[in-house]
Amino acid sequence: MSEQIEVVRFPMQIGGKAHNPCGGEWIGSLNPATEEVWAMIPRAGAEDAEMAAAAAHEALRGAWAKLTPTQRGALMFRLADLLERDAELLAQLDARDNGKPISELRKQYAYLPQHWRYFGGLVDKLEAQVIPVDRNGVFNFTRHEPVGVVLAITPWNSPLVIASWKIAPALAAGCTTIVKPSEHASISTLHFAKLVAEAGFPAGVVNVVTGYGHEVGEALVAHAKVAKVSFTGGEAGGRAVSTLAAKHLKPTVMELGGKSPVIVFDDADLDRAVSTVAAGIFSSSGQSCVAGSRLLLQAGIYDEFLRRLIDRARAIVVGDPLSAETAMGPITTRAQFETIQSHLFDAHEQGAICAFKGDRSSSFPTGGLFLPPHIFTGVTPLMRVWREEVFGPVLAVMRFETEAEAVAIANDSPFGLAAGLWTRDLDRALRLHKELEAGTVWINSYRGVSSMTPLGGFKRSGFGRENGQEAVREFLQTKSVWMEYQ
Ligand code: NDP
Repeated sequence: MSEQIEVVRFPMQIGGKAHNPCGGEWIGSLNPATEEVWAMIPRAGAEDAEMAAAAAHEALRGAWAKLTPTQRGALMFRLADLLERDAELLAQLDARDNGKPISELRKQYAYLPQHWRYFGGLVDKLEAQVIPVDRNGVFNFTRHEPVGVVLAITPWNSPLVIASWKIAPALAAGCTTIVKPSEHASISTLHFAKLVAEAGFPAGVVNVVTGYGHEVGEALVAHAKVAKVSFTGGEAGGRAVSTLAAKHLKPTVMELGGKSPVIVFDDADLDRAVSTVAAGIFSSSGQSCVAGSRLLLQAGIYDEFLRRLIDRARAIVVGDPLSAETAMGPITTRAQFETIQSHLFDAHEQGAICAFKGDRSSSFPTGGLFLPPHIFTGVTPLMRVWREEVFGPVLAVMRFETEAEAVAIANDSPFGLAAGLWTRDLDRALRLHKELEAGTVWINSYRGVSSMTPLGGFKRSGFGRENGQEAVREFLQTKSVWMEYQ
C-alpha cells in the first residue's frame, strides 16, 4: 500500500486509459496538515475535455449500450468488490489529500461498496409503463432512456463519496460519465477510475478529468456532447455552472450546501442530543454540506445544554488526520481557512460572544491549516455567523421560548438543505417535520445518509436529488411510443 501512496503523479483516466494532460502541465496537490505538495494531478484543458467527451459519447451509444441492464449491474457489483478491497488505501489517500480524519474516512469507505451494490441492483428494475390511451387500435408504452453523457463536478470535502452519489445512479440509468473533481482533492477519484478499468467496464464509461473549474470545468459544462451536469459545491461555483449550462439549455442537479438548524426542545434526551449536535457541526471540521451550524435551544435547557456541549467540544482531539484518535483534522484549503477566519472576525465584530474556543496551546498541531472548534452565543438573526455557510468548525447558538418561534427562526434562512429536531413529544415531531423548510429532517438524530433515501435541497440549497431511486430518475428521459394496429 505504501508503494502506491508514494506515487507522486496521478494521471487522468480517459477512454479507459491513463492520460497525461495534453498541455503538459501539472498541479501540486497539498496535504493540508502540512501545506506541502504530496502528489501531482494533471491540469487539463479544452483538448483533454474534448477527448473525454468523445470517449464518453462513443461508449454511450456503443459498448455500454450493448450490454444488457443485468450485465451493467454485474459490472457495478464487481466495482463494489474492488472498492471494498481498496477501502483502506482510499481512506489513506483522502486523509492526505483533504485532511479528513482517518476514522471518519474508514466509515465512509466501509459503506461505499454498499452504495454501488444498491445502484447496481437497480439497473435491471427500471420498469416503464403500458398506457391505455383512449383510442382503439393503439398500443402505447413508455421507455426510460439515459439522458446521455453526465458531467459530475465534485467538491473537496468527500470527493469519492459525492462522485459516487452522481456516477452510480447515472450508470444505473445507462448514462456514461465524466468526473471533474476539485483540484484540492482529486486523488481518490483518480484511483477510483483505475478500479473502473480493472472491473472491466467498457472504455469511456467513466472518465476522470482534473484541473481548474474555470478552465476544464467550463469547457466540459459547455461541451455539446455533455447532456446533463450534476454539481456539488458552493453557491458561487453553482451559479457559474448553472448559468453556463442554462446558456446551452442543459439541465443540472445542484447541491449547494446550507446553514442547517438543529432545534432542541426542553424534553429532549440531552445525552444523545449533546453528542449528536457536536458531531453534526465538528465532524470533518464543519466542512460538510449538512453541518448543523445553527443551534436553537429552548430556554429551559439552554444553560445546561450549552455547558455539556462545551465539555464535549473541549474533548475533541484536533490533529493529524492519519491518527485514529483524531476527531478534527485540518481545513482542506488555505482559501477556506481564510474564509473561516473572516467569519470568526466578523462574528466578534458584530457582537457575538465566543462561548467556547478550543485550546490552541498544549497538544494543538503546529503548522498546517488547523482550527479549533468555536461556539458563539449572543447571536442575532442578521449576524453573518448566523446567516452564511461558514463551512468550518463554527457553531452559532440562539435561545427560543415557543415551538412557533423555533420554526420561524429555523426557516428564516435562504438555505434549506437539512434540519434537526430533538424532542420526546411524538405529536410535536409529527407536526414540526412538515413545517421545516429543508430537504432532509432528522428527528432525534442527525447526519444519517443512505444510498436508499433522497438527499437534496429546498430553496437556495439546490435542486434535484441524489441517492435513492429519485437519483436514477434524474438521469433518465421518458420516451412515449405509439403503435397502431388494425
Ligand atoms: P466550488 O463550488 O468552487 O467548487 C466545487 C467544484 O466546482 C470544484 O470541482 C470546482 O473546481 C468546480 N467549479 C467551480 N467553479 C466552476 C466553474 N465555473 N465551472 C466548472 N466547475 C467549477 O467550491 P470551493 O472549493 O470554492 O468552496 C467554496 C464554498 O463552497 C465553501 O466555502 C463552502 O461554503 C461551499 N462548499 C460546499 C460544498 C457542499 O458540499 N455543498 C462542498 C465544498 C464547498 P475548482 O476547485 O477547480 O474551481
